[in-house]
Amino acid sequence: MLPFARVSIIGMGLIGSSLARAIKACMPEVRLCVHDASAEVRARVSELGLADEVCDLPGTAVIDAELVVLCVPVGAMAAVAAEIAPDLAEGAVVSDVGSVKASVLAALEAALPVHVRVVPGHPVAGTERSGPDAGFATLFEGRWCILTPREADGPGVAQLAAFWERLGARVEVMDAQHHDRVLAVTSHLPHLIAYSIVGTASDLETVTRSEVIKYSAGGFRDFTRIAASDPVMWRDVFLNNREAVLETLGRFTEDLVALQRAIRWGDGETLEALFTRTRAIRRGIIDEGQDTAAEDFGRPHGGPGSAS
Ligand code: NAP
Repeated sequence: MLPFARVSIIGMGLIGSSLARAIKACMPEVRLCVHDASAEVRARVSELGLADEVCDLPGTAVIDAELVVLCVPVGAMAAVAAEIAPDLAEGAVVSDVGSVKASVLAALEAALPVHVRVVPGHPVAGTERSGPDAGFATLFEGRWCILTPREADGPGVAQLAAFWERLGARVEVMDAQHHDRVLAVTSHLPHLIAYSIVGTASDLETVTRSEVIKYSAGGFRDFTRIAASDPVMWRDVFLNNREAVLETLGRFTEDLVALQRAIRWGDGETLEALFTRTRAIRRGIIDEGQDTAAEDFGRPHGGPGSAS
């Protein structure tokens, strides 16, 4: 039995189009109606045949939907929720895929009528690419999808968990604030560091830009890949997870200063002890099977990616 027979997706970029492809591959009986604010994206989605219906208006796409998934940048969630609110069916589950959860939970609850079930979600899977051509059906296979409803056993939670499991994801239910603290460490701070280091390298006076590109070794190349992630999406992540990111950044800055001191004083023991500990963490990630396509460091077709 299908968890939901009629599904609507708003926002058909990387994540929305991957979700559409995964639904068509894993639950072909589902009737899928989609909308994107961009006419160009809508035309491309029709061309690719990713949905049963591509609607010009968000309200039209959600009429009769049992599940609506908002796949727009975090900063656009409140406006989209307000737009679809009058057209939602009684008892519909409204979810999202945003990389920040506390602000989205609050925005959805404020904008949506009480007769719908708000169950925010975050598939921790993605790449640094954007748009409907970047999506692929297997993106969520074996990845975690974190659901952050107000109540863990609230209405619609088990049904949404079953939906993501049908797409091959592993589901965890978590408090929204806790999600934001965890992702601040595992995804948001690494992206901030990547954006910052690539900016620093391109601003150096003593090393030319062409030298940076020509001699970019593995470490820097990985940072440039992460720093190529969508600017609007990441702007919204930092604006909406400010407190958790600033707290984590404070800790990181202290630890960095400790490393600076160890280098200055020739304290090789401290450096080696840390590098040994971090190597074990990497091994743990590989053992967990999480090194191939995470929202935060993924590799869609064998190539590396990044996401949140
Ligand atoms: P994306 O490829 O840029 O797609 C977003 C799409 O939403 C674009 O087509 C955009 O159109 C459209 N859109 C923007 N505002 C809209 C509105 N008001 N109404 C309807 N459509 C609108 O971004 P994405 O990577 O799929 O990210 C979408 C969401 O997934 C974000 O909340 C992000 O935090 C989350 N997420 C991303 C990743 C990742 O790795 N990328 C992983 C997990 C979760 P325009 O291009 O015209 O603006």
